[in-house]
Amino acid sequence: MKTDVEIAQEAVLKPISQVADSLGLTEDDYEPYGRYKAKISLEALKRMEAEPDGKLILVTAINPTPAGEGKTTTNVGLSMALNKIGKRAITTLREPSLGPCFGMKGGAAGGGYAQVLPMDDINLHFTGDFHAITSAHNLLAALLDNSIQQGNPLQLDPKRIVLKRVVDMNDRSLRNIVIGLGKRTDGVVREAGFDITVASEVMAILCLTSGLEDLKERLGKIIVGYTYANKPDAIKPNLVQTIENTPALIHGGPFANIAHGCNSLLATKAGLKFADYVVTEAGFGADLGAEKFLDIVCPTAGFTPDAIVLVATIRALKMNGGLDKTQLKEEDLTALSAGICNLEQHLENLAKYKVPTVVAINRFPDDTDAELKLVADHAHKLGARTVVSDVFAHGGDGAVDLAHAVVDLCEQESNFAPLYDSSLTLHNKIDTIAKEVYRAEGVDFVPSAKKQLQLLTELGYGNLPVCMAKTQYSFSDDPKKLGAPRDFRITVREVKVSAGAGFVVALTGDIMTMPGLPKVPAAVGMDIDADGKITGLS
Ligand code: ADP
Ligand code: MG
Repeated sequence: MKTDVEIAQEAVLKPISQVADSLGLTEDDYEPYGRYKAKISLEALKRMEAEPDGKLILVTAINPTPAGEGKTTTNVGLSMALNKIGKRAITTLREPSLGPCFGMKGGAAGGGYAQVLPMDDINLHFTGDFHAITSAHNLLAALLDNSIQQGNPLQLDPKRIVLKRVVDMNDRSLRNIVIGLGKRTDGVVREAGFDITVASEVMAILCLTSGLEDLKERLGKIIVGYTYANKPDAIKPNLVQTIENTPALIHGGPFANIAHGCNSLLATKAGLKFADYVVTEAGFGADLGAEKFLDIVCPTAGFTPDAIVLVATIRALKMNGGLDKTQLKEEDLTALSAGICNLEQHLENLAKYKVPTVVAINRFPDDTDAELKLVADHAHKLGARTVVSDVFAHGGDGAVDLAHAVVDLCEQESNFAPLYDSSLTLHNKIDTIAKEVYRAEGVDFVPSAKKQLQLLTELGYGNLPVCMAKTQYSFSDDPKKLGAPRDFRITVREVKVSAGAGFVVALTGDIMTMPGLPKVPAAVGMDIDADGKITGLS
């Protein structure tokens, strides 16, 4: 089979004006960024507010292998399949970060015959939103250090500055640095550090904001207390298309651990106005991404999701059943049976939100018929509907059954309710998530985290939702406990508020806000030839 980038280079794209036209946008409503990308104006979004909403479909997944299980690929394929069966569909996605793109995971624009295009642009620099967010964030950091240098009128304790700088790169050597070395005029010496841009609160804010006024207000709430001018373009959703010309809104890209892991609320809202079916994605597995979409994003935005697609792969189930990531290509019904408890727990958890759910088995080339049947039979026993989806190899044609299943689900009643009420204490919210979703026996707070929790409650942040920072590989806070672990406790080692974004982050385990590169980064395999043709990007 051809590589992702080869498939992408052979695709025939429509000019973005035609895609915009298909959404009912006039030339005044968007600003082209070259031939195949555009930004939608805020006025156009405002004008559409009176339109009725389409159906909202969330794509989430079981606990993954390090390579990812195909949420984005399934999302893109499903939106194309919905179009194929005569529905007006749109996909909304996060913008890829350069860190994972050059690091372990590779790009995030789907794969095979289910991609959003131009994939090289989307993966590499796109419309400059991440650059704008990085600049806005670092401006704040520079203002802060300058203020300390200029006599420190705010009396900031250089040892207690929580705002780091950000860069959109996996660069472990920037995690802890010393700044201000040199002459007296070169700044005040202090320990500082970098986070990856997707961990910036500015990113989370951009993705939860409802408009420019709200953006300003939220930025002003960032805990160091400075407001500043922001380049206004990054707030406008980006319009592109899938390989089969389905419209796609790709906007914002917050981390799914210390932030909420979903594309911007503005893009999803716009999608609901433009189309009858909006397919969106939440990062990592359903214990993190779906939980945050349903408990943070939906209540903030006033969304009521109509259907959930839970992506499972045979290889991730086998890994959850105890196999090493190097052994996933062989048929192994024993490991598969042992790992199905992971799917089962995710299904039980999603049922608590009362949104109709279907399991999509994302078919990989090595999957055997016996393995696919085992999972379908087991899910059937659990009362879950299961559909095999093969959009990687066949594009929209590979998800026609899934599209029909999703349309059926959207006709059923969704009695969506979040897992917890905002009036619960922060402590009880964390406890509820840990017990109901992770199945922990309880939560332990290290003493400093206990103090932080108390302080945040006193400062009036107790009514905010909680954003759990946890490993994506396990329901527990230990990445090695796969399947459906029991008899464990969760340890919260730090609690902090993202006051502008509007959530309290509880950090468990060893969560990195600045990832490192693996031994052989994906960047090593990338090249560009004299004609500008890129290879090795997937
Ligand atoms: P997620 O969004 O869940 O992280 P992605 O959709 O980005 O996952 O897919 C992860 C990787 O797996 C990508 O490189 C993608 O091209 C690849 N992939 C996804 N589905 C398939 C499949 N059915 N067959 C082969 N490769 C796939
Ligand atoms: Mg993805």
